[in-house]
Amino acid sequence: MITDKRETELINFIRQDKLMKFYKSKEWFAVREQARRRDNYECQVCKSKGRYKRVQNVHHLKEVKTHPHLSLKLNNLQSLCIPCHNDAHERLKDVVEKKFMNVERW
Ligand SMILES: [Zn+2]
Ligand SMILES: [Zn+2]
Repeated sequence: MITDKRETELINFIRQDKLMKFYKSKEWFAVREQARRRDNYECQVCKSKGRYKRVQNVHHLKEVKTHPHLSLKLNNLQSLCIPCHNDAHERLKDVVEKKFMNVERW
């Protein structure tokens, strides 16, 4: 288990843009492994389409940079294969661009 003090320290790494320190921490490795096990080591997007693909990445549903306090929360993590992970990030970019277009239009 992770102590509050250590969690605060890890969240501060993200806030200070020291993402590599976060991603190299044993706490991140531990929570990532918990997410993979919870998802049966399967890509959750492929699974929802009736396909089986082994997990390759663990994705933050709410991005660490905008939601640092959710970075170690199991329910913010999703096991994905690399193509689905790329898609997830492409979609995030789309949302930002669409929002931006709307701002311009109005
Ligand atoms: Zn997939
Ligand atoms: Zn991701």
